Amino acid sequence: MAFDYDLFVIGGGSGGVRAARVAAAGGATVGLAEESRMGGTCVIRGCVPKKLMVFASSYRASVGEAVDYGWSADLGDFEWSKFQTRLHGELDRLENVYQNLLKNSGVDYFLERATIADPHTIALASGKKISAKHILIATGGRPVRPEENFDASLGIVSDDIFNLETLPKSMLIVGGGYIACEFACIMNGLGVETTLYYRGAQILRGFDDEARGLVADQMKSNGVDIHTGANVLDMKEQDGGYWVKGSHGPEAVFDKVLFATGRTPNSDNLGLENTSVEVGRRGEIVVDEYSQTAQPSIYAIGDVTNRVNLTPVAIREGMAFVETVFNGNPTPVDHDLIPSAIFTQPEMGTVGLSEEDAREQEPIDVYCTSFKPMQQSFIGRDDRVMMKLVVSQKTDVVLGCHIVAPAAGEMIQLAGIAVKMGATKAQFDQVCAVHPTMSEELVTMKTPMRSA
Ligand code: NDP
Repeated sequence: MAFDYDLFVIGGGSGGVRAARVAAAGGATVGLAEESRMGGTCVIRGCVPKKLMVFASSYRASVGEAVDYGWSADLGDFEWSKFQTRLHGELDRLENVYQNLLKNSGVDYFLERATIADPHTIALASGKKISAKHILIATGGRPVRPEENFDASLGIVSDDIFNLETLPKSMLIVGGGYIACEFACIMNGLGVETTLYYRGAQILRGFDDEARGLVADQMKSNGVDIHTGANVLDMKEQDGGYWVKGSHGPEAVFDKVLFATGRTPNSDNLGLENTSVEVGRRGEIVVDEYSQTAQPSIYAIGDVTNRVNLTPVAIREGMAFVETVFNGNPTPVDHDLIPSAIFTQPEMGTVGLSEEDAREQEPIDVYCTSFKPMQQSFIGRDDRVMMKLVVSQKTDVVLGCHIVAPAAGEMIQLAGIAVKMGATKAQFDQVCAVHPTMSEELVTMKTPMRSA
């Protein structure tokens, strides 16, 4: 049977665009549909604009430190509109880059919604029907508000942050995951009075306990008002802001409330009922290790599959899909030992098992140090950083590495190579220290702090 395309991709985010380009470069005929802006969550309303906001928000502290180092400097006020104009200019540029990447690879793209009419047919919103031998669903995810007894639509979600008309004077952030903690630090750094309500006992559930404890302590000492065991019980519009009653007692009015209470896969209204594709309990498209759904002609990658919701993972899933389907080389996606960073201030970089998870698995030695970094200690600041290695007692293999420090994201990328290679603690120690740096501690810790 002849198809219009060898591959049709639904979703123009990082994973979908990469799969489309690589398949086309290998000679496949490829179409792609994107209903919003090319680039998807990461480029348009996630990692990229977020990181630019992290940079913007870090200058206040940097200038303060510069003054303590002897510079004369007065930072003045932050002009949100000036930053926002530049930010949107950059996002327009990147969107263009993504469109050109597709064009130059020979991918036909359609800026409209696509749904699946049958296992080999795509229906575009304009009414056009397109046939394809393979369909790749790469529709990503979206932020969700909590379903509670108050009107959560009064609050914003992370997608809305980049389009705020003005910077609020105060903000309540609800949640304790990546997005809540990163935006709490960003807003605080930009001078917004920032409060965070997290329903559990400690923010960043699932990460190494000591590391998240230090991030929480530093966030508090930088000025974020963190309430744990706290959630929104009720909220209403009041005085141009939002009155919020906390489950733990307090009532307060905030200019804005941000719900950073998780994300959900974009699997609804895709026409999946016209196929055998299975959807899991959390709305995720169920796939096997090759990203194939229960409908053999249909694959899915990225956040819509809710495996590991990170851009570089979606990209690797897209590459593995092309290798499997178009290059005759079945390639499972490797989801083991993925380094990641949380761009809080200070950052947390992490790869492998937390101390708690490793201890459940086998006897371990924990090498850990926490200290005042030279740059801040010199000017009398109390900031602390932390470096931790979780090591198997039996094999000496480093099972986990956790760093809380400025630029921990950069450090963990490199430490991640060693951990992924299965390096032992002895091999870490064979590496000569780079002095004076913070990360030299990773190769100079001699005695375990704990064994268990
Ligand atoms: P997370 O799932 O990480 O965090 C959601 C938070 O909201 C948790 O603290 C959760 O609490 C809380 N929560 C959930 N439901 C409710 C509710 N009804 N009321 C109050 N609190 C609630 O989601 P995020 O949105 O922060 O991030 C989504 C994903 O995006 C991440 O998992 C990550 O994969 C990716 N991401 C990665 C980044 C990076 O690499 N730097 C940056 C941003 C996002 P509890 O802990 O109790 O469940």
